[in-house]
Amino acid sequence: MNKYAHLVGGFTFGLLFSNIVLEKVATMTGSEMPIIAVTAIVVVSSIGACLIPDIDHRSSSISKKHPIISKVVRVFAGHRELTHAPLLYIILGSLLLGLTSQVPLALHEIYTYVVIGCFIGILSHLTLDAMTKSGIHILYPFSKMRFNILRLQTGKFICDGLAMIVMLLVSFFSIMSIPI
Ligand SMILES: [Zn+2]
Repeated sequence: MNKYAHLVGGFTFGLLFSNIVLEKVATMTGSEMPIIAVTAIVVVSSIGACLIPDIDHRSSSISKKHPIISKVVRVFAGHRELTHAPLLYIILGSLLLGLTSQVPLALHEIYTYVVIGCFIGILSHLTLDAMTKSGIHILYPFSKMRFNILRLQTGKFICDGLAMIVMLLVSFFSIMSIPI
């Protein structure tokens, strides 16, 4: 998928996850943060993180912005291998959530939502890549088995354009359901 499809994916996944899961969690835990604020933090974090996995791709926009980091990653990780491995982000996300106690108490909730939002953004990237022919190595580093949900050809309208239209429609209905 191209950069724009991934950005729309980060937006849509962040929005959906906030609406479906986090609103209920926030209500159950008696959070005093307004739902709209929770949604905003998660969506912005999700969009901010959704391009990270392509840091291993020389011509991706995130690699062009951070060429040195990209070069280092390319030396140590193959394309669509380590940076597209769900296990890496499950470990990183768990470690970051484990550090919550190190963050000032007043920022605990915001920090947690930022970490969750970043994880959702990366999950959106991996899900969209899994819809393309190349797929992802879902069990990396234990197996290099390719996993595909669909076999769309990236760069074609049917792949990137249609995916964006579907996701924007989902986002529209999701925004309509946000309680203000
Ligand atoms: Zn990718």
